[in-house]
Order: sequence, then C-alpha cells, then structure tokens
Amino acid sequence: MTHQHGTQLTGHVQLSLVIPVFNEAATIDLFIARITDVFKDETLIGLEMVFVNDGSTDTTLDLLLERQQTDSRLRIVDLSRNFGKEAALTAGLQTATGQVVVPIDVDLQDPPEVILEMIALWREGYEVVLGHRVSRKTDSWAKQTSANWFYRLHNKIAEQHLPENVGDFRLMDRCVVDALQTLPESRRFMKGLFAWVGFRTTHVNYERLERVAGASKFNGWRLWNFALEGITSFSTEPLRIWTYLGLFVSLISFSFAIFIILRTLISGVDLPGYASLMVAVTFLGGLQLIGIGVLGEYLGRTYIESKRRPVYLVRRVYDPKD
Ligand code: UDP
Ligand code: MG
Repeated sequence: MTHQHGTQLTGHVQLSLVIPVFNEAATIDLFIARITDVFKDETLIGLEMVFVNDGSTDTTLDLLLERQQTDSRLRIVDLSRNFGKEAALTAGLQTATGQVVVPIDVDLQDPPEVILEMIALWREGYEVVLGHRVSRKTDSWAKQTSANWFYRLHNKIAEQHLPENVGDFRLMDRCVVDALQTLPESRRFMKGLFAWVGFRTTHVNYERLERVAGASKFNGWRLWNFALEGITSFSTEPLRIWTYLGLFVSLISFSFAIFIILRTLISGVDLPGYASLMVAVTFLGGLQLIGIGVLGEYLGRTYIESKRRPVYLVRRVYDPKD
C-alpha cells in the first residue's frame, strides 16, 4: 500500500479535539474528566482540546477559563455571538493544530473511546474515519424518522452522497482539514462539505448514547431549517423539477383545451364548469407559489453568499498560560 503517512503506524501523534459549546456549563467538567480518563495511558497521543464557545449566555466561558488555568491541553476560541454549530465547528477546525482532528460534542453522546479505534485506522493509512451510529435509539422517534427521510431525499437529488447515520463525529487527517479550509462558502453545511472533499475513508461503528447532562439545542424547527440548508447547499434539483412539472401541467391543460373546443363545437356552449375552473386556478396558483418559494430559497442563498461575510467572528482566542 502506498500511504502518505505509512510511517505513522507506531509514532507519536498530535490529536486535536474540536468541541463546539453553547450553554454547556453542565457538561464541560464531565467531558474533560472522561477525556482525561480515556487518554491517560496513551503516551503516543499528544492531546489538544479546542473549545469553541458559540456565544454561550451561561457560565460556560468562565468555567473553561478556570479549567485552562490547570490544564494546558485546553484552547478556547470565544466567538462574538452564537453563530450556530456549523460555524463554531469551522472556527474550531481553523484553530486546531493537530495532525489528526476530531470534532466531538461536549455532551458525551459520542463516546471518546471510539477515538482510539479511529486513530488505529488512521495509522493504517485512512485519512477520514467516520463515526457510524449503529443505533439511534436514544434519539426520539420523530428525529429518527425525519433524519431517515432527509438522507433518502438528499441522496436521491444531491450529487454528493451523504453517508447515513454519520454525524460530525469523525477523525480527519491534517490534509482533509486543510482541504476543508479551501472551501470558500459562508453558509457551511459541514456534513455536506465533509463528504464533498472526499479522501480515503473508512468508518467505525459506535452506539450513540444519551446526553450526560443539559438539554439538546436543536428543536424541530431548527432541524427542518438545517435539512433545507443541506439540500439547497448541495443540489439544484429542486429548481429543475419546476420545468418538468410546468411541462406536465401545460400538456394536461392543452389536451383539456382541445377537449373543450371539440365539445363546444359538437354540443354547443354550456355555462357550468365553475368548479373545475376554481380547482384549476387554485391548484396552479399553489404550484406557482411553491415554485417561487423554491426560487426564493436559492436566491436568498446566493444573496447571502454574495455578501462574502465571514463565517464567524472571534472575540478572543485563549491559549494556555496567556
Ligand atoms: N452547539 C453549538 N452551537 C449551537 C448549538 C449547539 O455549539 O448553536 C453545540 C452543543 O453545545 C453541543 C453540540 O453542538 O456540543 C451538539 O448540540 P446538541 O447536543 O444540543 O445537539 P443534538 O445532539 O441534540 O443534535
Ligand atoms: Mg447532543
């Protein structure tokens, strides 16, 4: 095998964890304790934890700063406000210095032990190791079903296939992180971008656990918007169906017109038809509105993208012993 980092089979490796946090004062200590425990005997792994404070309004930042006093593995990126998990991840990836980088949620839903398996696979020459959830039974039924539908629809119409049951929890080699940095878009649907860059990929299976403390930050409406974001980021198919739908509807109305003309010629003028008229008008009106809505969705994205605003703003980066 011709692996670029074939020499890494045994050597020392610098690992960066990227941890977006938004009002997570309840989970941070549990997270750090767990990480410390998992990596305590791993002498070949140098560890850095990049916490990205995504505009928390609780004591998250103070807590992190306090922990950093006694723990030089912590680096803290303080964003100027809440930019959302995708932006926070982007900020963390930009700050991480490790040879391998793993984004991970602070709520311990992704078990850190899995990272050791990921590193073992990386040592074999893989550049991306996905964390594949074998069961989502800790997610609500609604979340599971909607996620399933989203993946099915997305993978049908988008050019880039999204691996199912895979989240942001994954290992990436430095070359992958650098590649991500070259993508200029400011609306960042990370799962899609991760898939788009490619690279030599494998996966490890794991069971997604219950949040250790605190509450989820994603409600139904946020997830719906997230799904729209994903689909409009990686496919223009929704714009194109209107052409076909339009053709189809025109064809039907054309045949109907011929039918009416013939009928009038044969059996004379008759007035009734109010019902079918209303149906046709309202149905077409509805279709047109949906079509305009889809256009608007893309136009809006183009508009936002054309402003070229930064993805996030940093208030300050706290390096250990600053
Ligand atoms: N998060 C963030 N910014 C946000 C929302 C969430 O940085 O606007 C972080 C959050 O602190 C956590 C991770 O993203 O570390 C996953 O969030 P959560 O557990 O609420 O999502 P779920 O697991 O329910 O999908
Ligand atoms: Mg969670």
